[in-house]
Amino acid sequence: MPELLVVGSVALDSVATPFGAVREALGGSATYFAYAASFFTGIRLVATVGADFPKEHLDLLRGRGVDLSGLQISDGRTFRWTGEYGYDLNEAKTLDTQLNVFADFKPVLAPPLRRAPFLFLANIDPVLQLDVLRQMDERPRLVALDTMNFWIQGKKADLLRVLREVDVVTINDGEARQLAGEANLIRAARAIAAMGPKTVVVKRGEYGALMLCDGLFFMAPAFPLDAVYDPTGAGDTFAGGFVGHLAAMDRVDPSTLRRAVVYGSVMASFTVEDFSLNRLTRLTSEEIGARYDAFQSLTRVEA
Ligand code: AMP
Repeated sequence: MPELLVVGSVALDSVATPFGAVREALGGSATYFAYAASFFTGIRLVATVGADFPKEHLDLLRGRGVDLSGLQISDGRTFRWTGEYGYDLNEAKTLDTQLNVFADFKPVLAPPLRRAPFLFLANIDPVLQLDVLRQMDERPRLVALDTMNFWIQGKKADLLRVLREVDVVTINDGEARQLAGEANLIRAARAIAAMGPKTVVVKRGEYGALMLCDGLFFMAPAFPLDAVYDPTGAGDTFAGGFVGHLAAMDRVDPSTLRRAVVYGSVMASFTVEDFSLNRLTRLTSEEIGARYDAFQSLTRVEA
């Protein structure tokens, strides 16, 4: 089976929404991505955690078959993120970011990791994203990247450098506007494509996802849910379904990319139904299939 490699954050998240709160729950961009992708393909994770990271979280990922040989346990504290959402769940407000062990993390890829044909550079310092890309033995068939306002503000030059070398970028709407300096999302997507990636996927929370691929737009709605508890990780779970499907199919043609957007939306729709990875840990492949079918009937129109 084609293999997928992810580098990103593994975190302890403290999150409050109008519907509840969690403290130091399992989170991180690579965590959500890997867990979601594990329903589709073989997945290997590169990141670091501190000695304080609970063992049961590692067992959870291993239980899904996620290869953790690239996860370094460093001296120090695990990365921590604290955020909150108001009634508009599309906008996360970051209250605190503690990089901790990520502040001087140097990823070192063992030989089997350097040959993955699919690579996802999840939200993390763009310097680390580029470092991992440079360590690959040969250029992967597909390199996708995600980022956020923290890095667009703090490390824009490094981000632009790595963006030049990727095929796909996934980014949320507010961050797409910020990166492109464009209020209009269509113009923003085109401007980001001009920075390097041929395919730009803009995640729009409850409004779905917009993909620009070779100059053509495609849109998928978000699944209509009557109870959303915590949108944290929706973006990374989307990416896990999206790239996971491409890796499983071993194809990156436009119609596979469209199906991948729907798989991404399916996976994200589960994550938001509970805090942390709680809904994902109860998820079955049958539920994924059923929701994919429901997505199709949601958008089907007669000729
Ligand atoms: P999202 O899928 O966009 O909701 O991402 C949520 C995850 O991003 C959380 O689990 C956080 O641990 C992680 N995160 C937040 N800020 C950062 C950051 N600056 N770098 C890397 N990961 C982050």
